Amino acid sequence: MNDLYARHRGVMPDWLALYYDDPMEITHGEGRHVWDAQGNRYLDFFGGILTTMTAHALPEVTKAVTEQAGRIIHSSTLYLNRPMVELAERVAMVSGIPDARVFFTTSGTEANDTAMLLATTYRQGNTVVAMRNSYHGRSFGAVGITGNRTWSPTSLSPLQTLYVHGGVRTRGPYADLDDRAFIDACVADLRDLLGQTRPPAALIAEPIQGVGGFTSPPDGLYAAFREVLDEHGILWISDEVQTGWGRTGEHFWGWQAHDQSGPPDIVTFAKGIGNGMSIGGVIARAEIMNCIDANSISTFGGTQITMAAGLANLAYHLEHDLQGNARRVGGLLIELLRGVTAGLPGVREVRGRGLMIGIELVKPGTDEADPAAAAAVLETARRNGLLIGKGGGHNTSVLRIAPPLTLTVAEAEEGAAILENALGSTY
Ligand code: PMP
Repeated sequence: MNDLYARHRGVMPDWLALYYDDPMEITHGEGRHVWDAQGNRYLDFFGGILTTMTAHALPEVTKAVTEQAGRIIHSSTLYLNRPMVELAERVAMVSGIPDARVFFTTSGTEANDTAMLLATTYRQGNTVVAMRNSYHGRSFGAVGITGNRTWSPTSLSPLQTLYVHGGVRTRGPYADLDDRAFIDACVADLRDLLGQTRPPAALIAEPIQGVGGFTSPPDGLYAAFREVLDEHGILWISDEVQTGWGRTGEHFWGWQAHDQSGPPDIVTFAKGIGNGMSIGGVIARAEIMNCIDANSISTFGGTQITMAAGLANLAYHLEHDLQGNARRVGGLLIELLRGVTAGLPGVREVRGRGLMIGIELVKPGTDEADPAAAAAVLETARRNGLLIGKGGGHNTSVLRIAPPLTLTVAEAEEGAAILENALGSTY
């Protein structure tokens, strides 16, 4: 056990999840690479989800943050905050939501908590629908809408939550259905749930389940849900913490892949928009955002320094068409990974959109999840200089790939070769 790990174990909670048998300390980064305390260099195929949307140590963001730090770092509360207003204007503009209002938080968890506050207040009821296998954060409220047992430490909740099918398709009672039959079954499940209670306040869903293993519902499922929700005035909340900002390539927001009938009532975001600085937030049309009639503030949500990072990062993103890069390089990477995994008995599926790619592993010859293999591939890839993530259901047996959005073709090829080797030596 390395010294820092021993000290970590001595003072941090046991439930704070860490990757790798010998957990690593990352000391610096540049572009799509990071270095550990021993000076080893890694190609980072996971940092894009973990926070670094664009690139490690992006000079434009570093400059904006340093300049702001030299002027003032103050909380956003109680005084006007120019970078916060400017970023809110830009976020509202790209949100696709009419008459949008934006509230900044420090995390995705807090963004989803705020969405719950808005939805339950607006609709005057504390029942919500969430998806099986979902992940929405770690607070008491967010855990109450998280359907992924691995990340859900308590079943107590301030909300009454109904979990609807639609999250996991690969196993369970609906596994053998085609898309149309699956959608019909999930809609029937939703109607069944609605029949058991007075209409819930909202349904919250990730367009692609992130922690849940990069599983995407079939096209048309969320649109079909939306029709049912509209019959009852139930709000539609899209958790874009992983799928927002062009990560899925074809679309700027994940919901756009599913539902052409118009934007969600509420969108939540976080992670990469600050390129490492802690920004989360909620977007909703004014009527919903302003349904609260008491004061509310967030001391650290929207501080000048995080907003400066967000402004510089979003400007870089739009100027360099990073959504287009996610589409092009992500498309190539999916093809490369399908190629190098073809014929491997333990690879059930390579799936994804843009730079959000999952490789689902099973015990060869079976349909059983293989978390041990996923852990082994992570270790081998690390030894060979590549960082990836994992996720998926009760058994984390999906490799998750979500690099910074500036990934180059050469880096995609390098990473695919390392994965070919890591998977080849596992199976
Ligand atoms: N929603 C989704 C879809 C997420 O993936 C996450 C984080 N993994 C969260 C919410 C919570 O975000 P945070 O960790 O910033 O609280």
